[in-house]
This record gives sequence, structure tokens and C-alpha cells, in this order.
Amino acid sequence: MKTSKTLFPWLAALLMLGSSQLACKTVLREFSPPEPGYVVVTPTPQILVVTATPAPPAPEVNPAEAFSDDQIRAGIQASLNLYAQAYNENKPELLEQAVDQENKPFRRIVRSRLDEYQKSSFAGQYESKNILLDIQRRELGYVIAHFEDEDGWQADWPFRPVDGRWVLTEPTLEHIGEAVTTETEHFTFVTYPWAEDVNPKIIEMMETARQQVADRLGKVPAEKAKVRIVPVYALDRFGAMSAIAWYSKGGDADGGDLIHIYAPNSFAYSYYDPDLGWDGTLQLTLTHEYTHMAHARNYENAGRLADWMSEGLAEYISEAPGNLRYACHAYRSGTVIPILDESGAVAKQDLMHMTNLDKDTGLAYAYSHALVSFVTSKFGGLEGFWKLAEALDKTSDFKKALKEAFGIEFKDFNQQWNQWLKNQC
Ligand SMILES: [Zn+2]
Repeated sequence: MKTSKTLFPWLAALLMLGSSQLACKTVLREFSPPEPGYVVVTPTPQILVVTATPAPPAPEVNPAEAFSDDQIRAGIQASLNLYAQAYNENKPELLEQAVDQENKPFRRIVRSRLDEYQKSSFAGQYESKNILLDIQRRELGYVIAHFEDEDGWQADWPFRPVDGRWVLTEPTLEHIGEAVTTETEHFTFVTYPWAEDVNPKIIEMMETARQQVADRLGKVPAEKAKVRIVPVYALDRFGAMSAIAWYSKGGDADGGDLIHIYAPNSFAYSYYDPDLGWDGTLQLTLTHEYTHMAHARNYENAGRLADWMSEGLAEYISEAPGNLRYACHAYRSGTVIPILDESGAVAKQDLMHMTNLDKDTGLAYAYSHALVSFVTSKFGGLEGFWKLAEALDKTSDFKKALKEAFGIEFKDFNQQWNQWLKNQC
């Protein structure tokens, strides 16, 4: 089942990055024709200003040349097997044989994602399996392994030979090349030569994200965003380890807004749905992040006290497919994330505080998307959503906000929500 991939926190996402930052995930999406928009943004020709040119890597010995394709395939498959076994048996020590131990930040992110998975409600319920499909030799001894997992989800991760074994890795900072800045009308892109095979396409896709937000949300920011297309985790060695992308208002060094996205040919980017391809999957993420920017810049983060309103809106506007069904299945099977945790716990485990959940944050994105869909379908579309958000900002109390915006008691709203959710699968 393809959508079950979104069960996995290593794919899904997310850490609390501080109040100005929001994390996100990759998800499925069906491409449907855009709704008639309130704002039409006419694409304009891009002006490309390249302020730095990548220096070609210095000729070095390529250690992969000592191996035949068959040897490389066998070596990579062996490491992929160990990696899957580490997940299936919760044996982090197996990662030491399958993962590059010389690259410390990389070692940490691989381990962190395993730990996150083992904490989730889904640990032990799935048999992880990785099948190598193809290899691509890159410069400097790296080989990109194109493989699929037990659900048919695909990934493209770099490997390199170490002492005769092929270990999962990412290129070093020296090997990815110098940062290149590209100015377009709405964005400033920072890219690295290592990902040059995908950078131009991502630059185009960011413009598509802007158009989708314009069509579906109705407004787009006037401000330019800086978009960093990051090929390796080690560039931000203390960055959130579960996130594959995030938006940060005013988070750039020059005070502007920042969107960070891992390049697709990396472990940090994780898996993608082969039906959508890496680009279709990434498009969802870019639109998700740009929705956060529009929410911050055009709507002053209305509803900021409710995490689900922010993340749910971003999922709703990116039209991430599969979320409603996923949340419905989880609800029916008893993995419930309530809107309000009324148990009296200090660290509330609910959708209002979904970025602080002890586990299943990835699932909370699906729940949040579903809740936004419920509100828009039953309480007057996005206009109803904004009405609720503003009432929440005014009252700082979700129950009072519901009463003020929709004249409904929380008890009744919650009952209708649960009933509706149960019927989405
Ligand atoms: Zn997000």
C-alpha cells in the first residue's frame, strides 16, 4: 500500500524548530486542475544572475573505478539489507556497518531517523525491505543507488566504497562545490554544483508552487524568499534531523524569509512516490512551504495558537493526496490524536500542539489536513477557516473560538469531526 509510507516518521517529518520555523514532510498528491483563483499571477521570464560559477572538481583518484558494476550492486544491496534489518529488529548497531562512519553529522541523521521510527506507533508493524533497481556512477567515487522499498516507494541515495564495502553516505562539503546564487523575480536560490542535475527543475517548480498558492489560497507574498536547495545534511549540521524541508520567517542571515529544501538525490530528502516521481513529490513540499510563507506574510499567521491550522493549511493547499484516508485508517484502528488533550498533562498530546508530540508527528500532519478539510467543507470554505483562526487569536481559547466563529459547542464539533473522519476511508 503506497500511502502507508506516510506512516513513517523518517519520511514524514518534523521537529519543533522554534516559533519562527515550521517543518514539513513529503506526501502524495493527485494533480487536479487548479480551482479558479482570486489572484492570477502571470509567469514572467526569469532573470538569471549567476553570482558565482562552480569550479570543476579537481581531478582525483576515483575509488569506484576499482569495482565492476556487479560488484557495486552487490555491495550496495548488502548495505541496504543491513539498513532494513536495523529497522526491522531495532538494531542501531547494524548501521555502523551500512553507514559511512567517517562523516559524523551524516551518521547522526541516519541514527536519529531510526530512533524516531522506533518511537512511533508503527514500529515493529512493517517489514522493511530495500531492493536495488539501478546505479549511477558519479564523480569522486560516489555511486547513486536507485532503489525501492517494500511499498514500492523509491529513493536515490549516495554510497561510496570503504574498505571494500559500499556504505550509505553523502558527499563531503568539499565535494558538493561552492554555493551558487541565482536571482529570479520572486526568489533568490542558493544551490550547489553537486545537485546541478536537479537545480534548474526545482527553480521552475518553485514558481509553480507560487502559482498554486495564488490559485488555491488567493494571495501570495510580495516579499522575495531565499530558497536553499541543500544536497547534504552536513551543511546544517545542527539542523532538524527529521525534517526534509522547512520555512523560516525572517530566518535568513539578511532578515528575509528562508525556505530550506533537501535535494532529491540525498538520504536527507528520503523517499518519494514513484507514481509522482521525485519532482511530483517535491512539488507538494514546495507548495507546502510556500503556503507557510503566505500564511505568515499575507495572513499574519492567523490561528497561531493551533499548530494544526498552520500545518493543516499547508497540506490542504498543496493538495497532498492520501492524508484523509491515512488519518481515517489510523482513527479506525485506534491511533487517535485528539484536537484537545483534556487529560491535564503538561505536555499536551493533541493537534493544537502537534509540533510537540512525543510520537507520530507524521500522522498528525494527516490529521491536521483532514481537520482543515472538515472545517472548510462544513463551515464555509476557507472563509470559515479564517473566521475560526481570527476568533482563536482573539479569544486564545479554542472552545470559545468555535462558539464565536460557528456558534457551536466543542462537544458537538468534536462529535461531528470524529463522525466525518471515520467516513473518509
Ligand atoms: Zn509545514
